Amino acid sequence: MTLIPCYACESRFRPEEYFLACHDYNRGMDLVAWTCPRCGNRDDLRVLPDAIGFGYPRRGRFAVQDSFRVPGLRRHRQDLRLDISLNKEVWRVSTRLRQLS
Ligand SMILES: [Zn+2]
Repeated sequence: MTLIPCYACESRFRPEEYFLACHDYNRGMDLVAWTCPRCGNRDDLRVLPDAIGFGYPRRGRFAVQDSFRVPGLRRHRQDLRLDISLNKEVWRVSTRLRQLS
């Protein structure tokens, strides 16, 4: 089974643990935030077919620099959430709604 690492503390997570820690889907930048359950490090990542992409925001976009292979990983973009699926499991990552002023 694929174990996915936290690049800050090098803990490795089973996919269900890892994707549960995703939050705040940003549809414009097409990324989700991830907070490590062990060390609290926050990372931005993009869910790709068969991989997780890591990178950084640049000129209003998210530039993927590195990727980590997760065979079978799939994504489905919704209006206010991203559905991440792997095998038969689905994790729904909502967009955090900001108050309009
Ligand atoms: Zn960590």
